[in-house]
Amino acid sequence: MSIPPKRIILPQVVDPRRLVNQGVTLTGEINPDFCIRLAEAVDEISQPIVVNLVFDTAEQGRKVVRGTASTTVILACQRCLEPMELPLAVDMALGIVWSEDQAKALPRELDPWIVEDEAGDIAALVEEELLLAMPFVTYHSEDQCSATASHATGEDLGEIKEENPFGILEQLKNSGSDN
Ligand SMILES: [Zn+2]
Repeated sequence: MSIPPKRIILPQVVDPRRLVNQGVTLTGEINPDFCIRLAEAVDEISQPIVVNLVFDTAEQGRKVVRGTASTTVILACQRCLEPMELPLAVDMALGIVWSEDQAKALPRELDPWIVEDEAGDIAALVEEELLLAMPFVTYHSEDQCSATASHATGEDLGEIKEENPFGILEQLKNSGSDN
């Protein structure tokens, strides 16, 4: 029998180099209150933002963070405008660096995480990765989208527009014959 893991809310800010030196693995949730930009980009962050981040030393003494982050958001389908669920999941591989210059020297497989002092904002880091993982446009799959059913309505609207001038002419004619 396994006990379900306790929900752990991670701090917004950590000292990443100290975590590397201690070989720490952070497993828990990012408080969505610290992810304002993500919250504004979607209708709702509907599932906890779960992360698993391993702080480690790589070749040449390089300090790295590897792991995953995932959540589910609700946003509007851009075809039918009804809400839809969008799972987001990212793999992260970051080199902890002090400056832009050091960032440029990182191997290609590592994204830079520039931390200028002891305070590394993991909430901002994870939020940025999740924002980058969001597709440019989001649609329901065809069988779940209600826009296919409303396609005919769009054509009807077009016909009404075309018929309107004749309708008005008809009214003018009628009112003229009444006089
Ligand atoms: Zn849709």
